[in-house]
Amino acid sequence: MSESVPVDLVSRTWAGEPEPPAAVPSSADVVVIGGGIIGVSTAWFLAKHGVDVVVCEKGHIAGEQSGRNWGWVRQQGRDRREMPMIVESLRIWRTLGDEIGEDVGFSEQGVIYLIDNDRQFERYAAWAKFAEDYGTGTRLIEADELQRLVRGAAVQWRGALYTASDGRAEPHKAVPALARAVVRRGGTVLTSCAVRGIETTGGRVSAVVTEHGRIRTSTVLCAAGAWTSMFCRSLGIRVPQLKVRGTVARTAPADFVCNGAMTDRRLALRRRQDGGYTVAHGVVIDHPVTPSTFRFGPGFMPAVRMDARHLRLSLGREFLDEWLTPTTWPLDGESPFEKCRVLDPPPNPRILRQIRKHLDATFPQLAATPLVESWAGMIETTPDVVPVIDEAASLPGFHVATGFSGHGFGIGPGAGKAVAGLLTGDDVGLDVKAFRLGRFADGTPIRPETGV
Ligand SMILES: Cc1cc2nc3c(=O)[nH]c(=O)nc-3n(C[C@H](O)[C@H](O)[C@H](O)COP(=O)(O)OP(=O)(O)OC[C@H]3O[C@@H](n4cnc5c(N)ncnc54)[C@H](O)[C@@H]3O)c2cc1C
Repeated sequence: MSESVPVDLVSRTWAGEPEPPAAVPSSADVVVIGGGIIGVSTAWFLAKHGVDVVVCEKGHIAGEQSGRNWGWVRQQGRDRREMPMIVESLRIWRTLGDEIGEDVGFSEQGVIYLIDNDRQFERYAAWAKFAEDYGTGTRLIEADELQRLVRGAAVQWRGALYTASDGRAEPHKAVPALARAVVRRGGTVLTSCAVRGIETTGGRVSAVVTEHGRIRTSTVLCAAGAWTSMFCRSLGIRVPQLKVRGTVARTAPADFVCNGAMTDRRLALRRRQDGGYTVAHGVVIDHPVTPSTFRFGPGFMPAVRMDARHLRLSLGREFLDEWLTPTTWPLDGESPFEKCRVLDPPPNPRILRQIRKHLDATFPQLAATPLVESWAGMIETTPDVVPVIDEAASLPGFHVATGFSGHGFGIGPGAGKAVAGLLTGDDVGLDVKAFRLGRFADGTPIRPETGV
């Protein structure tokens, strides 16, 4: 297996020039802004129900967060508001590859949170109890069972929180495969097609304006990931959102240490389909300060307090880039979205060194295994670390699905189903009221239950 894995296996998802469309359709029932897992999954459920849907992606499908993530598909440790959607998402993942006739790299191999102190033990025990209502099968396991699941560790853990029904999938495969399935179902997927803005008639959405022309529509979904806040601001809609850089690496195919995904907070590791591991630092929050930090920062204080000791602030190019980006722009000229086709932050070299150190200390048998590829992605978060899924009160027809806060890949198919229901008005059995945008402005207490 080893020699056949190309060095740019992951980064080829976003490297290179994306292909511009020959033309854009003149109209659609729904236009989706953003070709990440949220936009594409929503388009999949819409296309399956015969809705005429167009996805506009400024760069590559899965070129940003959705192709760069760790590939964990987990119910474990979630905020209670996300539970129904993630349980449904796991159900969809299990048959998704068969349904679309392409491999998405999904495998139900479990997620393990390792325990080395009493506080963790109590917190995880409480979560296992809470999860009983959702049938995830989450339980605490002791050291002997753990040794069968995680092999050859030089570190002794007391036990772990374990959800065998959690899974993993391959980010570089899953969303591009689903986008092709959208097209086979009659939807349209356009790359190198930035949406510059929205046109309105009588106070509601009447068209989107792309760099390649206008698409008439009454319904828009903004699933623009890290760009959503900026896009919405240009329409006078406030979406509090901050970015965190996630640095990731993958090893060459290696000895078996764990078949699923595991973290002891210093090291997060997930077995890959190619026999290697996707590795990262388990908890560090690497936040480049920008003008948004000051605009939205106060609202993020509850989340910051939860994880303050893991926060690493830096002041660099990102501040200037955002400072120099206009807040509105004419729709007949180049927009900020065309100027940055792909948000491609460099991996943080310090964190890469820590990943290597923690990997070797935890699994000495992997010390000779090279990290063959590294990359980074900008995670976007909300103040309570759960998403926004809503129609904008001030602009009928304009919907937002964003802020998946570092765990939107696993929940993506479930969220896509829920968002499609919101757009069509069909009851799909998933209530999205808890994700309304207004919670950040109407005095609702903001209480994050989990970290990013
Ligand atoms: C390093 C890292 C590790 C992670 N690990 C996990 C994990 O293990 N499990 C998990 O569940 N989640 C994980 N996540 C989070 C997960 O990847 C995201 O929550 C999820 O991918 C968000 O999907 P999205 O579709 O909302 O956004 P994105 O994937 O970012 O897609 C948004 C798209 O919109 C496009 N766009 C923006 N503006 C415009 C415009 N004006 N016109 C056209 N297109 C536009 C962008 O180019 C982009 O492709 C991780 C994220 C990162 C970065």
